[in-house]
Amino acid sequence: MTLIDLRSDTVTRPSAGMRRAMADAEVGDDVFGDDPTVNRLQAVLAERLGFEAGLFMPSGTQSNLAALMTHCQRGDEYIVGQNAHTYRYEGGGAAVLGSIQPQPIDNEADGTLPLDKIAAAIKPDDPHFARTRLLALENTIGGKPVPLAYCAQATALAHGRGLATHLDGARLFNAAVALGVEPRAVAAGFDSVSVCLSKGLGAPVGSVLLGSRDFIARARRPRKMLGGGLRQAGVLAATGLYALKHNVARLADDHAHAQRLADGLRALGLNVDGPHTNMVFVQWKPEQAASLQAFMAERGVLVLSGARLRLVTHLDVDTAGVERALAAFGEFLARGFQ
Ligand SMILES: *Cc1c(COP(=O)(O)O)cnc(C)c1O
Repeated sequence: MTLIDLRSDTVTRPSAGMRRAMADAEVGDDVFGDDPTVNRLQAVLAERLGFEAGLFMPSGTQSNLAALMTHCQRGDEYIVGQNAHTYRYEGGGAAVLGSIQPQPIDNEADGTLPLDKIAAAIKPDDPHFARTRLLALENTIGGKPVPLAYCAQATALAHGRGLATHLDGARLFNAAVALGVEPRAVAAGFDSVSVCLSKGLGAPVGSVLLGSRDFIARARRPRKMLGGGLRQAGVLAATGLYALKHNVARLADDHAHAQRLADGLRALGLNVDGPHTNMVFVQWKPEQAASLQAFMAERGVLVLSGARLRLVTHLDVDTAGVERALAAFGEFLARGFQ
């Protein structure tokens, strides 16, 4: 029985074609800048997203942290959403390792940060305060594509007040596909962007940080400091190049599968939020939530546990897999969830 893994879009396994690309990759020592495949990935993604340069990173967490540490010095502050990955789900790295103070603001339901609250959070130049240096946004956030008109306003506000701007674009390509725009339009207005290759794009490892030539040159120091200077990383970068070629347009399939999943779960009478790109959220009663995970696993469907369950589609979930998952949910409800 093939497993249908709806826990995350990070669970994909490299396809045969992707593995061939790894085997065929030309490599060199990337700390010396000698790896031609890493260099090509960085150049291709920079060109595609409208930046001068890129830097390959082992993970999105490291890419975001290296960006924050490049924009901000010790005692600086960055404005960020309460629900943002950099603030909430990265071990507090900005504060712990960067000595950068986060200034979180509550996200609106659509994932945005109210412009008046951003403006009010920017501190005057006064020894009482940390120096506000950066605004960090995320797109998609909780699967929701953030409207580009909003991003333009927020980045203009930040730049007008002397702040730099960073986008955590872990799922930037999902946002572009959902909004029906070129990926570079999602990146527009930001001084730096971090993109994950290991989420919906299906690579096993890797993120790329994009920015100006000078910014990327400076980001090499925190990357090295954080342990991200890799050697023959071309075997990994080759998966990113393969993913950019083969796995971007097909993100629309993941979004369609999430739509079908949401429709089917609603038809079962469940309390569903979404789909938001490739994510669907389902609210369970606590007594249901406790037994759901084991019940689904017995039927080959992997889900996380919790009262607000996040289901994520990706390139290892096809239409038949969605239907099988829906059938298992239906059986769970019909049996009175033992
Ligand atoms: C997954 C994710 C990251 C971090 O990426 P890792 O490669 O898991 O470290 C950062 N931001 C967002 C929005 C993510 O979803």
